[in-house]
Amino acid sequence: MARGIEGRTDFRKLLKLAQKAVKNSYCPYSNFRVSAVLFGEDGTVTGVNVENASYGLTVCAERVAIFKAVSEGKRKFRGILIYSPDGMPYPCGACRQVMTEFFPTDFEILVTNGSSEERFTLKELFPYNFKL
Ligand SMILES: [Zn+2]
Repeated sequence: MARGIEGRTDFRKLLKLAQKAVKNSYCPYSNFRVSAVLFGEDGTVTGVNVENASYGLTVCAERVAIFKAVSEGKRKFRGILIYSPDGMPYPCGACRQVMTEFFPTDFEILVTNGSSEERFTLKELFPYNFKL
């Protein structure tokens, strides 16, 4: 894990940020709270899921964090921690495609519910992506 987060301290720090951010999750329809924390050279950027009554306009926490970062001119990230106290929040296909747009194949994806965690690279989760 050369490029990933090193050690439990960093993981705990990121989890703490995610746990603070998830309080802003807007999910009155699914009641599935999710937050995401991008981490790397450009620091950390958080996002939460934002749902909508029309369902289709809902945006996942990962994409909120990524779009927020890109809109602030930040693209240098090593990975993303995705957290939910309501289950394991594996990124959906749309978020995996969006990650592919901005991050390398060894981009690290940490999925956690606070008590267990799984680590993947972007390539592992989305090996055949669409790129122009
Ligand atoms: Zn998603």
